[in-house]
Amino acid sequence: MTDINLASGASYFRSPAPAIATAIAALEAGATGHGTAEGIPELREAIAQRYQADGIAIAPEQVLVTPGSKQALFYLFTTLLQHDSDELVIPTPAWGGFRELMAYGKGKLVELPTAASTGYRLDSADLRKKLNEHSRILLLTNPCNPTGRIYTKQELEGILSVTRDFPDLTIIADEIYDFITYNGAFTSILSCEGAGQEIVVVNGFSKSFAMTDWRLGFMVGPTELVSRCTRFQGATLAGVSNFLQKGAASMLQQRTEVLKPMLEVLQENRRLTAAVLHDIPHLPYFYPEGAYYFFPDFSYYLPGTTPQGTTLTSSQDLCQYLKDEVALQLYAGENFGASGHARLSFAVEKETLQEALIRLKEALEGLVVQ
Ligand code: PMP
Repeated sequence: MTDINLASGASYFRSPAPAIATAIAALEAGATGHGTAEGIPELREAIAQRYQADGIAIAPEQVLVTPGSKQALFYLFTTLLQHDSDELVIPTPAWGGFRELMAYGKGKLVELPTAASTGYRLDSADLRKKLNEHSRILLLTNPCNPTGRIYTKQELEGILSVTRDFPDLTIIADEIYDFITYNGAFTSILSCEGAGQEIVVVNGFSKSFAMTDWRLGFMVGPTELVSRCTRFQGATLAGVSNFLQKGAASMLQQRTEVLKPMLEVLQENRRLTAAVLHDIPHLPYFYPEGAYYFFPDFSYYLPGTTPQGTTLTSSQDLCQYLKDEVALQLYAGENFGASGHARLSFAVEKETLQEALIRLKEALEGLVVQ
């Protein structure tokens, strides 16, 4: 049985042809000199323009190009979390990478759980209870990895109406999946009224453009904060490779054509995944509005006993069982602060996805549930 990996956060698509062609041409033309810390003008311009096209007033000076969005997050955490008592508040379920990054700097992570039963709605009263004089960052992921939930404009403004009472708090919105949406418009938090609040968006090319290994991300935010992060980047990395940035800049101009075929595949894969999950008994799931994951709740099957007589008590156990029994990899919910769940990506080839879902169904049928 061949291994099927639905655990990965990278899609199976190839990076867009215009990005590859431009990067190669730039390399051949000798774009290997020392670049600037903030990023090349044409990429910062192209990034500012993509926001301007949505009516968001962003100047190129507010953009810092980073080697992946992870690095942008790291600069922000390091800059904004200066004391061990500083707090970063994060609605969960959330991507485990945030917690991993927190291990390398000051501050502590405060979880703000949201529930599948309310469609992962972020309750304003719950948010207010979590905020205090130590709160320095509220980190939103929109669209969310792993749930696929998208905040509406109204919700974002509701959140900002709470956070405006905490002037030392910066909002970081990780919008890395912003172009991967299924039901229409996505609202960037940058288009909401911030009422004096510092708001930074972290984004990148890994997800929407299948460019994970190019290591290209960026932040967009208040000039002063972006400048501090730029100095940090200058001192530690120097800057992101020129030829990669040129590739990304040329591709952004053609983003509509580049995104269309990928979104068509994802749309279809999302539909077929939902159809199969729907047929598996006792497996509730949220129908993702963005990103390319389902995050079903496997609690009914835990504890469960395998045909070999092993008892599975956690999502981690369940994922190990799926790997051993049917060579299928899912990503355990514990990594997202949501035990009982597991994340599966549908950004794989249709045939692979169909086979994976058959295996999942059979493996769950093989469990005896107490
Ligand atoms: N943020 C989120 C929400 C992610 O899911 C990921 C990748 N899994 C990242 C950031 C990191 O992306 P990059 O490749 O740009 O560092």
